[in-house]
Amino acid sequence: MPETREVKTNQVDQRCPECGNGWMRPNGVVQQTNPPQYEHTCTNCGAKRTYGMRYPYIV
Ligand SMILES: [Zn+2]
Repeated sequence: MPETREVKTNQVDQRCPECGNGWMRPNGVVQQTNPPQYEHTCTNCGAKRTYGMRYPYIV
């Protein structure tokens, strides 16, 4: 029979490597490589970095 259980999740986020204060967020630019690269912009200083995944994500 169906049972319900609580599960815990963690969020993985990427802090800005430039200013150390902001968080990196996807800005919509995706490089169509294999695998795709997602451009992020810092919420604080506007620095741009490209990562192989979108932050934040849930594990
Ligand atoms: Zn920054």
